[in-house]
Amino acid sequence: MNIVLLGAPGAGKGTQAQRLVADYCVAHISTGDLLRAAVKAQSELGVAAKKYMDAGELVPDQLVIDLVKERLAADDAQKGFILDGFPRNTTQAVTLDTELAAMGRELDGALLVDVPAEVIIDRLSSRRTCRDCGYTAGPDTTVCPSCAGEMYQRDDDKPETIKNRLDVYEKNTSPLVEYYRGQGILKVVDGNRDIDLVYTDVKAELGL
Ligand code: AMP
Repeated sequence: MNIVLLGAPGAGKGTQAQRLVADYCVAHISTGDLLRAAVKAQSELGVAAKKYMDAGELVPDQLVIDLVKERLAADDAQKGFILDGFPRNTTQAVTLDTELAAMGRELDGALLVDVPAEVIIDRLSSRRTCRDCGYTAGPDTTVCPSCAGEMYQRDDDKPETIKNRLDVYEKNTSPLVEYYRGQGILKVVDGNRDIDLVYTDVKAELGL
């Protein structure tokens, strides 16, 4: 199973990815999580990426592409992967196709978790994220139900940055829906429902 998850920030891609990973033992490759870990570790990549992330802008393609290439080559990604938050623009999508072809692999599907913009704004501004494992929950959750880590509000989930992230999504990432439709591998689920119902549809769309 080699899957790309598409959808606006806050559409629920990470949540659906976590379920698929738990049930099907594939690698969860979230570029947002990888970049946040690099920022926390203050690595060269983290230092370079931070200012873009804080502003809700895309991190330069080459930095993210190198990160994804390394993860795709890792042992745990050989059985399959769920890419979450990558690709974010056409350059990244074309590079992904090229890299996979060079590895003798290809995408099985691009799954759009579709949620209206007004719902996204509500969700992001009330979202809390675990500092340790990335689990997300509502504003009243202070301790992570998954690993007991501290829940916090991501800087880029604050109102001033949310609008820019949605603009960036519309301009750069939403054209990928047509890109993958053109390849005949686009699948769409209505993400504006209970998480379990969305997951049932996700599995049906992916033929699982
Ligand atoms: P996310 O957790 O997927 O919402 O990502 C958080 C932030 O990380 C984004 O707003 C970008 O600044 C950066 N980021 C994540 N994935 C990518 C990507 N594929 N390309 C460029 N920047 C990314």
